[in-house]
Amino acid sequence: MKDLHDVLVIGLGVMGAAALWRASQKSACVLGIEAAGPTHNYGSSHGASRIFRRAYWEGEKYLPALIHADLLWNELEQSIGRQILFRTGGIFIGPRSSSVVAGSIKAAIQGNIDHKILSSSNIRTYLPAIHLQDGVHALYEPGAYVISAYDSRLGMLNEAVQCGASIQFGDSVINLENHKLGIQATTKCGFIHYAKSAIITTGPWIAEKFMPELKQYIQPRQVPIYWFNQKIKSEEYFSKKNFPVFLYERDDGGILYGVPSIGSTEPGVKIGFHNRQQDVVSPDWKNFSIQQKYITEISETVKSLFPQLDHSPIKAKSCFYTMSLDESFLIGQSKILKAAYFASACSGHGYKFAPAIGDALADMAVSQKPSFSLSAFSVDRFIKT
Ligand SMILES: Cc1cc2nc3c(=O)[nH]c(=O)nc-3n(C[C@H](O)[C@H](O)[C@H](O)COP(=O)(O)OP(=O)(O)OC[C@H]3O[C@@H](n4cnc5c(N)ncnc54)[C@H](O)[C@@H]3O)c2cc1C
Repeated sequence: MKDLHDVLVIGLGVMGAAALWRASQKSACVLGIEAAGPTHNYGSSHGASRIFRRAYWEGEKYLPALIHADLLWNELEQSIGRQILFRTGGIFIGPRSSSVVAGSIKAAIQGNIDHKILSSSNIRTYLPAIHLQDGVHALYEPGAYVISAYDSRLGMLNEAVQCGASIQFGDSVINLENHKLGIQATTKCGFIHYAKSAIITTGPWIAEKFMPELKQYIQPRQVPIYWFNQKIKSEEYFSKKNFPVFLYERDDGGILYGVPSIGSTEPGVKIGFHNRQQDVVSPDWKNFSIQQKYITEISETVKSLFPQLDHSPIKAKSCFYTMSLDESFLIGQSKILKAAYFASACSGHGYKFAPAIGDALADMAVSQKPSFSLSAFSVDRFIKT
């Protein structure tokens, strides 16, 4: 049959790009279809940077995937021959019993991850720009880093093409159905593709179009991110050397994160709330404006924590978090589309895992066993017996 592929990857955000890259190394005939262009501002994967850390306060179940992802990020950087990982270290701050501090310490000890535990008096040795009240603690992870989001995702797509994959941009899959060969996909432009298996990585759109069985477990939310300029003569505070990636959990549980600028395309220090300022919207919602009350809140927070930053953001942007009920991931095999595997609901912290998740999806699509267990991310955890 003319248009039979081994693996079809639908949606080329970071998860789909990673799946395409890994599938192209395991299989001869791989096609990726992306509704938008090679780069775009929809979904969750756009922008300049993402944080990678291993002392994962969210839980030890993530560690095998983090270890595998770290290996593959390094492999990707080697193969594409340009820097995509910026080794800043990471500092995770808050009250001693907070999720971020207590959880990071627990994960670092359990995972044998290089770290230092800091009290408020020595936090500024590692993050000189921050001003904190007494009584907070931190974990410093020297091995944490920043991933160039733009270059890493495009790098994976390029690697896939070099391995023989084909990509179709600007066309969306509108229907998927079981077929005797595996799966039949119909696109908006009228193409029909057949594949032995499909990988569905359509991010916040996943439940709307192909996987209605996930609808009750996921919720797309729009979240803002902001960039801030350093004040004159404060540049040194915000260099990659002096500004590790940070998480800061406030007394009220609000978690702030920040990343130094890693390239000329990024206007300043990136700061946002991880678990506040989230609005439930449809994934097709294209109103990217940000509420004034959110801008006021972040400005006040930045003013008190980083006096060497101009506290009015120079830029603000919206992005999607596809949240699951427990803020973890949904990865597995569709119960309806028999030859389809999916990953979504990365709940605002999935980028760092992308090569590992893409590799696992590609393994399943070619009937191999993934190199780490996915059972913690199965939808079955929500199904009451
Ligand atoms: C502001 C922000 C900061 C973040 N920071 C971090 C961080 O520091 N560290 C970290 O690990 N994670 C972070 N994340 C989370 C991470 O970015 C996401 O988990 C990840 O990008 C999710 O990628 P995805 O491929 O699942 O989804 P998406 O990026 O949304 O990709 C889905 C793709 O599918 C395409 N598509 C949809 N429907 C169709 C169709 N029918 N046919 C074809 N294509 C289709 C879309 O156009 C899109 O390109 C952050 C997220 C945000 C928003």
